[in-house]
Amino acid sequence: MKFSISHLLVVLSLSSAPGLQAQEKVLNLYSARHYQTDAALYNDFTRQTGIVIKRIESKEDELLERIKSEGGNSPADIFLTVDAARLAAARELGLFAPIRSPILEARIPANLRTGDWFSFSTRARVIVYAKGAVKPDEVKTYADLANPRLKGKICSRSGSHPYNLSLMASIIAHQGEAKAEEWAKGVVANFARPPKGGDTDQILAVAAGECSVALANTYYLARLLRSSKPEERAAMEKIVVVWPDQQGNGAHINVSGGGMLKTAPHKEEAVKFLEYLVSDSAQRYFADGNNEWPVVAGVKISNPALESFGKFKADTLPVGSLAMYRAKAQIIFDRAGYR
Ligand code: FE
Repeated sequence: MKFSISHLLVVLSLSSAPGLQAQEKVLNLYSARHYQTDAALYNDFTRQTGIVIKRIESKEDELLERIKSEGGNSPADIFLTVDAARLAAARELGLFAPIRSPILEARIPANLRTGDWFSFSTRARVIVYAKGAVKPDEVKTYADLANPRLKGKICSRSGSHPYNLSLMASIIAHQGEAKAEEWAKGVVANFARPPKGGDTDQILAVAAGECSVALANTYYLARLLRSSKPEERAAMEKIVVVWPDQQGNGAHINVSGGGMLKTAPHKEEAVKFLEYLVSDSAQRYFADGNNEWPVVAGVKISNPALESFGKFKADTLPVGSLAMYRAKAQIIFDRAGYR
């Protein structure tokens, strides 16, 4: 005990010595992830590598604006965000540097990475409905949401939101633009109210009987299941979660991810950080902390809410395809009045 305390003091005084400060390895991280548990993830990286993370957290668009206006002088090494549509937007701006990393290529399934940005966790976009409000057979697929028998029953967040744009992009990829537009119009015709609020608002509206059916990302459901507020856990007892399209393409999967910036001043540290994010320990932070699934196969997680969801068939559409149809998805939603 006595030994470890004096050892600690030596380490502290060394690291605060003025001459050594300049050699401190740093990584500048621009993150649009908004999850409190991420701090633990970054601390774990620093503990393992000695690289100190300087983190700037802000809204997606503000970070992108900042990187653009900083130009070649940007201190940003890594840009992290959620949603394939947003990652695609960053890519279209030409911000990411191509990376060849045997570790990233071995650990991340091919459909969940591109040449310059990588997914680190996944979430599914699922259907939720109020127990007893509709028949289970009426809400088995995304296509069902456009069926006139659900008229006046659907709550939704905005069609401009990346989560819905990415879902739409997957429908375009699988079925083509004409069918995708027909679907969007059908869903709009079934709205119980104009789109408003986030995923959690839709889930709670379904539980409160304001509408019967909605779409939500799985981590919002897991968060409510694990909530410390009894009323949120009670809301979850009023709804049923459906894995869509289990006889077809499988449930639509979205991701959180990121990449190294072309102008990164600390490229070596940046690649180390991306490789760290696919380590078993980092993957567990994603799963246990933010209720997302690891991208790396076989990582042992301990998250009762995720485990309670059980196994399901996930759509294996490459994330690059979601990116490709992102702009088209917005045009179709606009035409269909899905605002
Ligand atoms: Fe979210």
